[in-house]
Amino acid sequence: MNKYDLHSHTLCSDGSLTAPQLIDLAIEKGVTHLAITDHDTVRAHHQLEQQNTAAYDERISIIKGIEFSSQWNNMGVHIVGLNIDTHADSITKGVAQQTGIRFKRLETIAHKLKKCGFPDVTQGSLEVADDSQIGRPHIAKYMVQQGLVANVGQAFSKYLGAGKVGDVSSVWPDVEQVVEWIHDAGGIAVIAHPSRYKMTRTKRRRLMADFADADGQAIEVCAGNQVPGVAEEMAALCEEFNFHASVGSDFHNPEYQWVTLGKYPKLPKACRPVWELF
Ligand code: AMP
Ligand code: MN
Ligand code: MN
Ligand code: MN
Repeated sequence: MNKYDLHSHTLCSDGSLTAPQLIDLAIEKGVTHLAITDHDTVRAHHQLEQQNTAAYDERISIIKGIEFSSQWNNMGVHIVGLNIDTHADSITKGVAQQTGIRFKRLETIAHKLKKCGFPDVTQGSLEVADDSQIGRPHIAKYMVQQGLVANVGQAFSKYLGAGKVGDVSSVWPDVEQVVEWIHDAGGIAVIAHPSRYKMTRTKRRRLMADFADADGQAIEVCAGNQVPGVAEEMAALCEEFNFHASVGSDFHNPEYQWVTLGKYPKLPKACRPVWELF
């Protein structure tokens, strides 16, 4: 039986496992189709191309993906691209642009944190990230290392999370631009974890309408650590806006016990799975 997980991260962004480690774990969990969707980078896919992955071929299909950061109405919204050509010009260009934005955003966040009385976190966060795509989790980890906050959760809840000083979303390209990058690479555009954005139902429906206007094709109906009832709510949005449904754990790290690779609520029967489009 097929088991899909179409949203996961590696050490190339803010995950903790290398791509081969992630794939081994996916096989162990019985996943047959795994999309690796790092934040604004496809480096894990390019690394896999350099390796002999024949041993995986019969056991698991690896789907080439990415999770692009975008903004909608000044809020950060994540758009997953599935089945992309990771060497397409639009991906090369998009990733380069996003990488530049991430470095600049780090400086902006550091500046804002300084105004809150913290020392400059720029260099230390870059060192934590090493050669991973720099993100807020690296800043959070550095703040913990320096004893500036008690733990990563507190770094987000007080300073970096949605609506806090270090939440800088206006830097990202709009949804239309990101969908275009994905389509130009032959991929399918999917709104990631739509229930996680802090917005009213009315606003969420407006996001869906704008995404449909931009020719976005699917939304994640089932995500990791999702409360009961949400899948049904998302399935209703699929029906209303004619979207296909995606499923994915958004796995980052085996130490995060609230998310298991390959695990998410059951896809409601009425949904058309996104893999029909692969
Ligand atoms: P960024 O891609 O730099 O905007 O950072 C967003 C990432 O931070 C998400 O993909 C999550 O992996 C992580 N994140 C968001 N909120 C939290 C939180 N409350 N605690 C820990 N990690 C979080
Ligand atoms: Mn992440
Ligand atoms: Mn996300
Ligand atoms: Mn993710």
